[in-house]
Amino acid sequence: MAGDYKIIDHHYDVVVVGAGGAGLRATFGMAEKGLKTACVTKVFPTRSHTVAAQGGVSAALGNMGEDDWRYHAYDTIKGSDWLGDQDAIEYMCREAIPAIIELEHYGVPFSRTEEGKIYQRPFGGMTVRYGEGTAQRTCAAADRTGHAILHTLYQQALAHQAEFFIEYFAIDLIMEDDRCRGVVALNLADGTIHRFIGQITVLATGGYGRSYFSCTSAHTCTGDGSGMVLRAGLPLQDMEFVQFHPTGVYGSGCLITEGVRGEGGYLTNSEGERFMERYAPNAKDLASRDVVSRSMTVEIREGRGVGPKKDHIHLHLEHLGAEVIHERLPGIAETARIFAGVDVTKEPIPVIPTVHYNMGGIPTNYQGEVVTLKDGNPDQVVPGLMAIGEAACVSVHGANRLGSNSLLDLVVFGRAAAIRAAELIKEGDTVQRALQPGAGDLALERLERLRNAKGSKPTAEIRDGMQETMQNFAAVFRTGESLQEGCERMAAVYASFEDVAVSDRSLIWNSDLVETLELENLLGNAVATIESARNREESRGAHAREDFPERDDDNWHKHTLSWVGQDGKVKLDYRPVHMYTLTDEMEVIPPKARVY
Ligand SMILES: Cc1cc2nc3c(=O)[nH]c(=O)nc-3n(C[C@H](O)[C@H](O)[C@H](O)COP(=O)(O)OP(=O)(O)OC[C@H]3O[C@@H](n4cnc5c(N)ncnc54)[C@H](O)[C@@H]3O)c2cc1C
Repeated sequence: MAGDYKIIDHHYDVVVVGAGGAGLRATFGMAEKGLKTACVTKVFPTRSHTVAAQGGVSAALGNMGEDDWRYHAYDTIKGSDWLGDQDAIEYMCREAIPAIIELEHYGVPFSRTEEGKIYQRPFGGMTVRYGEGTAQRTCAAADRTGHAILHTLYQQALAHQAEFFIEYFAIDLIMEDDRCRGVVALNLADGTIHRFIGQITVLATGGYGRSYFSCTSAHTCTGDGSGMVLRAGLPLQDMEFVQFHPTGVYGSGCLITEGVRGEGGYLTNSEGERFMERYAPNAKDLASRDVVSRSMTVEIREGRGVGPKKDHIHLHLEHLGAEVIHERLPGIAETARIFAGVDVTKEPIPVIPTVHYNMGGIPTNYQGEVVTLKDGNPDQVVPGLMAIGEAACVSVHGANRLGSNSLLDLVVFGRAAAIRAAELIKEGDTVQRALQPGAGDLALERLERLRNAKGSKPTAEIRDGMQETMQNFAAVFRTGESLQEGCERMAAVYASFEDVAVSDRSLIWNSDLVETLELENLLGNAVATIESARNREESRGAHAREDFPERDDDNWHKHTLSWVGQDGKVKLDYRPVHMYTLTDEMEVIPPKARVY
């Protein structure tokens, strides 16, 4: 074994890495089914980024007007710009209804209608009758829906005797003969090393927003699961699709939920014009996020931005009145006061498009099993490995995620992973064969190398270089030229990691070391993103190429796969989009022209 570490082995049926909405839903579901389940998390469960989710979670409950899960599926496919897998979308939208009712019964304190039903608000891209009217589909607990869901799921997981390993940092997967056997983790408090061995390992590690300079996600969103998958020689999928949220607070990047526009808020330019009416005459301010972000960017570019530098846009909710704001959007009023110094009952909030969500991630099927392209089979399951939540690419969001579909993705596929694990792990299977000698050595060698890294570049300096490059060269609008330059710069940043300097050599709360491990993960995600973006010569969803402004279904109606070698070189290939459904309850929806 590399280094002089104390190693402790644990045996479980299932090891879940991550305690956000996805990880907790899976952990609780597995434990409920009688599987011996460990949940390993680098932050305290209720501090996971899911806690920050504001606007809500979609489900065609029809509590506040007509609705049907098929309308929801249509909107999701259209929102995905036809890159979403239709079997997975069918599954998500249909299962949304029982999954949300279950959440209600588990104790999520949803806001209520007069009759006591779950309150539902309109959200961007959510329609009824295949685009004819606006749907009220997004279930909300005021503007703190993620907070409410996360706390409920944590309580349920504890009630079902799942075992938590809190503030343990997962370093790498243990792979044997193409099968995942578990994960190696560092206990941040005392420096001990733990090998968690499981029949199934579930990655629920969240997104990688922190590869950009301005993002709405927590500092912990560093794509660790994707980094582990890349080092295991497996590919990531559709990494070029990064969602910019139209309304990050100008300056800090903090999110102002789309629920604000759902409640009637609107955007204006320096002329006081409600410009979204020009870009999306039907959906207006509630057009999907890619459309609104691009429209705002065009307004700013053409000199109609607000503020002294004319570099942002105004979001108004003054007209809603203090009472509605207080009842439905209390968190937003607070965020605007703290981060923009604005009283939302009197003045507009300064906003700007900000990185918000990663559509790409670890490819999986609709049951949460990780898949890869092997011997010509694009759906080859990787035994023993699952991925769910923002870390995964199932792919229900395709090229662009609709607001409130991510919290839904977490609970539906967290639940699906538990159902699948209970099928796969048969009674009597629990005695596991011993690990091969040296299992986990790769993780320890990496830890040892970085802990003793004596280069000349501090972690923060390399991270700044990456964030600035991604922000400027893999932005809302992209061109072949800017992406080419971005790829070259990212390759140089990647290479500079060889020369990283870690000054703290201890193993007790060594944040210098943890940030360095996280940076290595971010770098893998970042090069996969920018290389995939350079390669895709079309515009689809969140990927807007000025040199290829049209969607090109003949050549690009396919998922990108990206492998990143140790040297940072990216290899690309493709998987077909699933243009089939699981049942005959829904028809396949072929690609259509874009009308907003
Ligand atoms: C500000 C904000 C508001 C949002 N609002 C909405 C909304 O209203 N509706 C909606 O549908 N979506 C919303 N989203 C998107 C949605 O909240 C996220 O996509 C989702 O919460 C991600 O959940 P997750 O479980 O995949 O990961 P996270 O909640 O990010 O959790 C990741 C977990 O993995 C653990 N982890 C990571 N790396 C390691 C490691 N190396 N070792 C051990 N543990 C590790 C962390 O400790 C954490 O527990 C919002 C996102 C943001 C940023």
